[in-house]
Amino acid sequence: MTPPEPQALPEEGPSLEDVLLRFRDFLSLKGLRFTRERELLLAAIFHAPRHFEAEDLIRTVHERNSRVSRATIYRTLSLLEESGILQKSLFGHNRHFYESVVGRHHHDHIVCIRCGQIREFDDSRIEAVQIEMCERFGYTMVDHLHEIFGVCSACQKQEATGGEPAA
Ligand SMILES: [Zn+2]
Ligand SMILES: [Zn+2]
Repeated sequence: MTPPEPQALPEEGPSLEDVLLRFRDFLSLKGLRFTRERELLLAAIFHAPRHFEAEDLIRTVHERNSRVSRATIYRTLSLLEESGILQKSLFGHNRHFYESVVGRHHHDHIVCIRCGQIREFDDSRIEAVQIEMCERFGYTMVDHLHEIFGVCSACQKQEATGGEPAA
């Protein structure tokens, strides 16, 4: 059993109130309604683990209120992404995870393809090289996602000893 390890970049996030206000403003700009379902979803996201998958959110929401359809959840996730509240990153082949990035510093991820552990890191050398690449090709950087996929040390050990995967 691997004890949970602290995230590399602990930070104070914004309040749920702040995020709700920001989403409501975004929706009204788009002429969309801030429904009770959307409010409920935002609250669920606010209490979810920092990095979560759409299916995790669907499961949590359905345990509490099964009337919110999958389509609404996916649509709301995509609106939250468009509003800049959530960031969607790759979680291996054809899988994604979301995280709230409001009030958080930019960071990159290293993902274990076996157990799904996600670590955050921020390295000024990597950031600088990316800016350098943009300059070389004459680009202005708008955003970037940088992710490393690997096998974490706990999973490497397990594979070496042929042990059972941890629950
Ligand atoms: Zn692992
Ligand atoms: Zn993250």
